[in-house]
This record gives sequence, structure tokens and C-alpha cells, in this order.
Amino acid sequence: MKTILVTGGTGYIGSWVVKDLLEKGKTVRLTVRDKSKTSKFRHLSEFANQSSGALEIWEADLLKYGSFDEAAKGAEAIIHVASPFIIKVKDAQKELVDPAVNGTKNVLNAATLSGTVQKIVLTSSLASILGDSIDMQKQGLSEFTEAHWNTSSSLTHQPYSFSKVSAEKAAWEKANAQKIWELVVINPGFVLGPSLTKTSDSESIKIMQDMLKGKFRTGAPDLWFGMVDVRDVAKAHILALESEKANGRHITCNGEMNFLHIANSIEKSFPKKYKLPKKLAPKGLLMWMGWMFGVTRAFVKNNIGYPIQFNNSKIKNELKMEFRDIDLTIKDMVDQLEN
Ligand code: NAP
Repeated sequence: MKTILVTGGTGYIGSWVVKDLLEKGKTVRLTVRDKSKTSKFRHLSEFANQSSGALEIWEADLLKYGSFDEAAKGAEAIIHVASPFIIKVKDAQKELVDPAVNGTKNVLNAATLSGTVQKIVLTSSLASILGDSIDMQKQGLSEFTEAHWNTSSSLTHQPYSFSKVSAEKAAWEKANAQKIWELVVINPGFVLGPSLTKTSDSESIKIMQDMLKGKFRTGAPDLWFGMVDVRDVAKAHILALESEKANGRHITCNGEMNFLHIANSIEKSFPKKYKLPKKLAPKGLLMWMGWMFGVTRAFVKNNIGYPIQFNNSKIKNELKMEFRDIDLTIKDMVDQLEN
């Protein structure tokens, strides 16, 4: 496959995907919302100049029906990364669900109309596998696998997770209703690691900046994540694109951590440099103070203090994925945010 359409390539994860494709000599059709905002993709044009690949800039918006149709014509594959990853929203339907779900349908329709697209790799999330951490206990599970789906999120409770599970379900529905292209899904955990872009709104970057500024210094929430390096997430997309064996969903994370583990990892690499938490914040306190972090009482109740576990053997066995050490991921990210 030579010509690949990438949505969300200006973002935190997407920029690494585009860089990897350019280094492989691919022609990348990057869709952006506004071509005149060159600062969003200048770094990608620079990578293109240094690589054997080529970068084309096309305009398309997840919220505009049919806007990916022209860009998809002639592409052999699509990597659909674009979707808002924001936690504090005023109108979850407009800000999260509409771009995630209608945007995915738009991109998939464009693939069908193109006459050229054979494969679509979709960036979903572990948020599409589980909603609340308590779900593992409630469902009597010892770990989550690709067989599990988020059934606890809604427009009012964990709306970002709701947008991701709704978008992935819509994608499988469309994929199963046709035989023109195949769908492969990547389900990353909480992504950390160095960013290639300075204009991303990703919560990954905001949360790490908050941690370094001392926002959690009085106590870290006992909130657990499946962790993964941004460079590994990009690699997973490329493996999914290139491997004929790739099929279905792929849990993409390398172990689990809570906020205190992340703080301890920073402290290990940068001793005494940041005002980091040394202990867990009491859950009762978070029930009252959660609003400061943009979370509701229901979120605190169902997520704080419930460790989670993911089985990542599918991506390791079928796609031969090898993950970076997360301590190194965190060190590289902090190093980069400092400079
Ligand atoms: P990001 O840096 O904010 O990237 C989001 C991308 O989506 C940007 O390129 C953005 O374009 C684009 N986008 C947003 N709304 C759009 C619209 N209406 N039309 C067209 N493009 C639009 O966030 P990220 O962390 O890289 O997330 C990328 C994907 O990974 C998302 O699907 C997210 O759900 C998923 N994911 C992220 C994580 C994580 O921990 N970061 C974990 C699991 C899954 P602009 O540059 O124009 O804003």
C-alpha cells in the first residue's frame, strides 16, 4: 500500500503515525480542518522533506458530511485517528459524540465510495473495552480482553469513553455490512511519551503537565490505567496496516499503573526536581474535591481504588508487537516537556 489517508495526523498520536509512514516512503494524505493553519502540520512537512515519503494536505472535518470523500479517492488505506480527547466538556453530544461517531461514519463512507481503499485502521481506546474500573469486579473478571465492551458509560457518565465505544461500534456495524475494505482496530491505553506537536489538545499532555506543575502534590488519586508509549501506539497502527494477519480489536498497553506509580517513576528519573505526590489521596476527600479535577462523584466512586488488568497477548502474538519500558516512556516525555 503506497498512499495512506491519515485523519488526526496533526495530533499527539497521529503525528507519530505520519512520521513512521513517511519514513517508510509512503505518500501520506493528511486531512486537516483548516489548511491555512500551517502551524498545525509544519513539523510533518519538515519530516516529509527529510524522508523518502511524500505529504499531501487535504481539508476535511469530522463534522462535515462527505468531507473525506475526495481525499479518500486514490488512497489504498485509511488510518482514522481523529477524535477529540478532552475530558472537561460543556456539551458532550456536540463536543465528543458527534465528531467521534458521525466522523467515523463519514470516514468509512468515504472509503466505500473511493473505489480504492482496501483497509481501515481505526484508533479506538481501552475506553471502548471498559467504562469504569469497578466494571472488572462487577463483571467477575481477572482481566480485560478484546472480548469485553464498555457497557457503563453514557452521555452523562464518562462521555469521552461513551464517544469511543459508540464510534467503535458504529465502525464494526459498517465494516460488517460490506466486503470492500477490512477494518482493524487499535485500542490504546493511557498514552504517554514525547510529543512531536506543540498544538495538541490531548489529555495525555495536559495530565503530565499538571503532574509536573504539582497539581497532585498533596495526594495522587488511586486511579489505574493501562499504560502505553505514544511511539508504540504509532507502531501498532503500522503493524495493523501492514500485517495480513491483523484482524479485529487489539488491546495496546504494556502494564498497569496508578497516578502514584507515574509520580514515583518521574521521581526515580528526576530526583527532587518536581512537587510530586508521595501518597495516595483519600477517596473520601476526592468525593468532595473531584470537581477540581473535572470529575464527578460517580466517577470517583466507580474508579478510585479499583486496580485493573489487561491481557495484551493478542497484539504481541499476532502482530509481533514489542513494547517499550514505561519508565523510559515517562522519562522521555518529561525530558521533552522540559525543553
Ligand atoms: P489529539 O492530540 O487531541 O489529537 C486529536 C486529533 O483529532 C487532532 O489531529 C485533531 O485535529 C483531530 N480532530 C479533532 N476534532 C476534529 C474534527 N472535528 N475534524 C477533524 N479532525 C478533528 O489527541 P490524541 O491523544 O492524539 O488522540 C488521538 C486519538 O487517539 C483519538 O481518537 C483518541 O480518542 C485516541 N486515544 C488517545 C489516547 C491517549 O491517551 N492520548 C488513548 C486511547 C485512545 P486538530 O489538530 O485540528 O485539533
